[in-house]
Amino acid sequence: MEIEPLEALPEDWERALCVVAHPDDMEFGAAAAVARWTGQGKEVVYCMVTSGEAGIDGMEPEKCRQVREAEQVASAQAVGVTVVEFLGQPDGILEYGLPLRAAIARVVRRFRPEIVITGNFRDTWGGRNLNQADHIAVGRAVVDAVRDAGNRWVFNDQLTDGLEPWGGVKAVWAFGSPAAEHAVDTTDTFDAGVASLEAHGAYIDGLGWENFDAREFLEGMARATGQRLGVAMAAPFEVFPMGWGD
Ligand SMILES: [Zn+2]
Repeated sequence: MEIEPLEALPEDWERALCVVAHPDDMEFGAAAAVARWTGQGKEVVYCMVTSGEAGIDGMEPEKCRQVREAEQVASAQAVGVTVVEFLGQPDGILEYGLPLRAAIARVVRRFRPEIVITGNFRDTWGGRNLNQADHIAVGRAVVDAVRDAGNRWVFNDQLTDGLEPWGGVKAVWAFGSPAAEHAVDTTDTFDAGVASLEAHGAYIDGLGWENFDAREFLEGMARATGQRLGVAMAAPFEVFPMGWGD
């Protein structure tokens, strides 16, 4: 089988904001890349649109919210991320639309990142398995909210108490996308990525997957991607340029 090569993502930036639907989304595809970047001294902050409160069948949402928020904070710490925000939107029933765009635009305006990272929001993961509705809603809203954040006249009511428009986002990067043409070498930070996924213990137990092994699961994906980048392990990303003329 022919291997389609991937290009390394640029690393000439200082601050990234990661916006994903659920606690655990970063850890199933991007945490080792985050560990690499924080290790380079970059600032990476996490924003969870929901608290994943509908994610454990045997646990009531109010209890589950607390458990999953705590797991996400620990998981972030494992890869050098100390700021984790929760937007408190409803898990499982997110809708793409203006309220979601507004909530994300506000976060972009507050953190003023150069790069915004989200999860794959294509219809599938490349095979026949369909993507999940919250992931698709969030990814589409992220791309739009990045533009909204830069426009003073969009969600203008947010611009109080010193909050200003922010049009400095160069690109949105979607990890795990089947249309990825870029990747990040995660060979040296793979272990941190594993620790980050293992921090979601209650969630993983709740999935009820027999003998789930975080390392084995992540390693399969990382090695396949690494082969395409010419390294041992890597994480794939699809790039959406946000500047004009890129
Ligand atoms: Zn998810």
